[in-house]
Amino acid sequence: MQKHNFFAGPSILPQSAIDATIEALKDFAGTGISLASVSHRGKEFEAVMAEAVALFKEILNIPEGYSVIFLGGGASLQFAMVPFNLLKTKAVYVNTGTWASKAGKEAKLFGEVVEVKNPDYFSLPKNFEVPQDADYIHVTSNNTIYGTELLTDPDYGIPLVSDMSSDIFSRPVDVSKYALIYGGAQKNLAPSGVTFVIVKDEILGKMDRKIPTMLDYRTHIKENSMFNTPPVIPIFTALETLKWIKANGGTEGMLKRNNAKADLLYAEIDRNPLFKGTVAKEDRSIMSVCFVMNDEFKHLEDDFAALTKSKGMVGLKGHRSVGGFRASLYNALELSSVQALVDAMKELEQKHK
Ligand SMILES: *Cc1c(COP(=O)(O)O)cnc(C)c1O
Repeated sequence: MQKHNFFAGPSILPQSAIDATIEALKDFAGTGISLASVSHRGKEFEAVMAEAVALFKEILNIPEGYSVIFLGGGASLQFAMVPFNLLKTKAVYVNTGTWASKAGKEAKLFGEVVEVKNPDYFSLPKNFEVPQDADYIHVTSNNTIYGTELLTDPDYGIPLVSDMSSDIFSRPVDVSKYALIYGGAQKNLAPSGVTFVIVKDEILGKMDRKIPTMLDYRTHIKENSMFNTPPVIPIFTALETLKWIKANGGTEGMLKRNNAKADLLYAEIDRNPLFKGTVAKEDRSIMSVCFVMNDEFKHLEDDFAALTKSKGMVGLKGHRSVGGFRASLYNALELSSVQALVDAMKELEQKHK
């Protein structure tokens, strides 16, 4: 049976990227050796790294003066590495969810944190004061767990840092508005194990504190992400995903694809009397669509879970901290998978109305 993969992360990737990785694991670039067993310093892998960085910059239209590096440690290590490298005295953290709050917690180890937060995570804070003497402001562009998303590139007058783990390459981004963008690759780009960082070179090197070599961005920029052994397999897959994104219209093409999927699903959530959305309409994510059953239909939750499962849909359970349902509509997910979900919602409605 065809599967419809709505998992939040690790998650769906283009089939072409998976297939190319399988081939490379058998015989990498005609070397007769598995990608898992070649030297990362060999010319074949160095070419993969160089092409991945070049394509990453090309697709996101990254201006001069920025570096792209691939690291280990996940987005969670960036929660600490960002303040270690950038926080002198004070930073602003927009707390829009669980991940944002984890990022702010690490920053508090390094200086004062001014937190911006709504009473709950079902909408994004707006029109807040940003102290102009802060070193930077940190946002989490897509709230993977609650389903809100910042779909613009804001200007707060101070350096902007964004955790784009779950929406990188889902839309065009004006990188020139950012000092630093980071994310774990396992939502929209590659298998887990690699973390991307886009950093404006001029913001680095202004810190008095000593930074351990591995935690200093400049180490990895200088060594082209080869200071130590990089995660070669996910970097290879990331390159193949980037090729797929380029072949499918780049970030403009992805935005069109993603809007079509999100529009289809939200329209059904709003129309179908069994279901309702959980976040403020103006802040709805096009990547992470969260919804619940209306109170009088709550007893049908298990039925809906069983129905979708019987039709090959996986990964629809809401995050354990929120409950309900969540459909992750990452780039590689086809519109036909969302249509299958919408059809299941209609089928349940027909049975129970
Ligand atoms: C998944 C996720 C993380 C955590 O990423 P790891 O690579 O597992 O550390 C951080 N931020 C956001 C927005 C996420 O979606």
